[in-house]
Amino acid sequence: MTIHDRTTGSSMSRAGLRSGSAALAVAVFLVDVLTPLEGAVAVLYVVAILLAAKTNRRDDIIVAAAGCVILTIVAYLLSHDLESIASPLLRVLVSLAAIGITTLLALQNHAATKRLAAQARLLNLSHDMIFARDRSGVITFWNKTAEQAYGWSADEALGQLADKLLRTTYPDRREVIEAGLLDTGRWEGRVQQRTKDGAVLTVDARWAMQHDRLGKPVGVLETHTDVTDRVAAHSALVQSEQRYRRMFDASRIGVVEEDWSDLRAALQSLDTAGAGLREHLVQHPDFVRHARRLAKITDVNPALQKMAGANGASAFIENVERLLGEDDRSFVGALIAFAEREPFYEGETELVRLDGRKVPVLFTITFSSEPGGDRNVLAFVVDITEREQAQDALLAAQAELAHAARVATLGELTASIAHEVNQPLAAIVTSGEAGLRWLRREVPDLDEVGATIVQIVGEGRRASEIVARIRTFLKKAPAQQDSIDIAEIIEEAALLVARELANDGVVLTFETEHGLKPVRGDRIQLQQVLVNLLVNACQAMSGQPGSRTAKLRAIAVDGEHLAITVQDSGPGIRPEDMPRLFDPFFTTKSGGMGMGLAICRTTVEAHGGQLSVESTPGAGATFRLTLPYSQEHPRP
Ligand code: ADP
Repeated sequence: MTIHDRTTGSSMSRAGLRSGSAALAVAVFLVDVLTPLEGAVAVLYVVAILLAAKTNRRDDIIVAAAGCVILTIVAYLLSHDLESIASPLLRVLVSLAAIGITTLLALQNHAATKRLAAQARLLNLSHDMIFARDRSGVITFWNKTAEQAYGWSADEALGQLADKLLRTTYPDRREVIEAGLLDTGRWEGRVQQRTKDGAVLTVDARWAMQHDRLGKPVGVLETHTDVTDRVAAHSALVQSEQRYRRMFDASRIGVVEEDWSDLRAALQSLDTAGAGLREHLVQHPDFVRHARRLAKITDVNPALQKMAGANGASAFIENVERLLGEDDRSFVGALIAFAEREPFYEGETELVRLDGRKVPVLFTITFSSEPGGDRNVLAFVVDITEREQAQDALLAAQAELAHAARVATLGELTASIAHEVNQPLAAIVTSGEAGLRWLRREVPDLDEVGATIVQIVGEGRRASEIVARIRTFLKKAPAQQDSIDIAEIIEEAALLVARELANDGVVLTFETEHGLKPVRGDRIQLQQVLVNLLVNACQAMSGQPGSRTAKLRAIAVDGEHLAITVQDSGPGIRPEDMPRLFDPFFTTKSGGMGMGLAICRTTVEAHGGQLSVESTPGAGATFRLTLPYSQEHPRP
């Protein structure tokens, strides 16, 4: 079956064969005519026909046969007269019969060969490497793909031992494979082979035993599919899967795998009746609850199981509703991000552990835009208890510091506060003495006594108000989140420092834009900021010649913020001091602590605002703080 296309080589030998055949026929003819062998030699024409048959072309056989017949007859006619015809004629007829039979056989053989060649060409079309070997393993057929894949041409491969040529390594012992092949007539398996240039190919081999007509095994047809790339891709996939698995199992970050495909379907069939999705979800908590059940958890890593206090993934999955708590507002956000095909969604929520303890967590849900990505939604969860604790500790430290600073500020104001408290006390004493005098008269004037007592009560109240204001200012309490009218804060702060300013000859004016919306935060802390700024202004101007003014203004900036400015007519701030002004412990005062502005800035930023300063040396300084309006307040 060594039918391999050797077009150019065969056409050259074909011409040779043709001329050989013709030369032989002519030689036989000459011998027949010129020698007394009497037609017997004509049998040798058979050789000429067989030679022509070797060209593998039907026409050549027919032409050769016809030529031989003609030559036989011509030779016969030339060498015999019509009288002595009987026995030579017989010999001629035998010769012709021999030529005829040979021609027929040659034609049949040609047809069979052609059929085989056609079949073999089909094998060449295959994408698989196909070769045949005989029982001893010698290659007898080698198709085109085998040539391309292994690198050996058919000429090189034919006649070689297949196993040796390809250096095949089998998954099992060779004898076992051969025994199985003999037994069932087939074998399939994955083997490794080498190409001509030494590369290793992984191939899926399918073998089929060939038998002769008597059922005796004569050879094996091997069909091999090159799966090197497929195997490499598969093993890369397996490796990547193993890597992912290791990360999933060993990560200290909680990971949960979820299938949101049902959720996608539910969202797509959702009729929001023209409303935005967020609005619809807020108005339909039932749908949100239902949607949460549609997000099916497929796996939970050990870190998240531990975070939730669940013993195993199934314990987590069974109790997921408890774990996420009733009021998981972050889910609505995640749902909207998913509907809008965002790549991820981040948020904070609380996990309710199975033992009931709440764990604050930060999470990121990632959505994949790949086909089938909805089936593989990954959420990464980090326990932020420690971070929250650290944040709380920081806030507590800040509050402590702010309190200390308030005490220090009041320390600076002691003289004026003492004076302020002293005033009503002095008035009480004066009124009390006057009352006594009215009482000790011969006829006590009880009306006057009553009037002085009313004055005493009024002054007493004033004194107690001053004390109350100071006590409130000094109160050590955790930061509050109240809705605050900024005008009230300004007034209280101004009252606290009014005496001090007056002592230094500073004229304080304050104006508040009408109708400012409330802000949200801690009343005392904000008051402290204003007191600090006013005391600083006062200290900057003290001892300065000329008019001393401090202006406090509150105005709306935009729909979101208001601004408060504290402007003085002092010396202003030196440009070189500007960059460090808000740094802790920066002070230019001999007894200063340098914490006032640092605390002011931290406080304002903790309220979501900003504190800045502008100053022209010699023309005063203006501190400006912005604060956001309270979100709970309905916008006009
Ligand atoms: P302290 O008052 O203890 O120095 P602050 O942080 O309140 O600490 O102030 C830091 C510095 O900023 C002050 O020492 C002063 O130099 C400068 N400063 C603050 N307010 C004003 C102002 N209104 N005019 C000029 N300088 C000011």
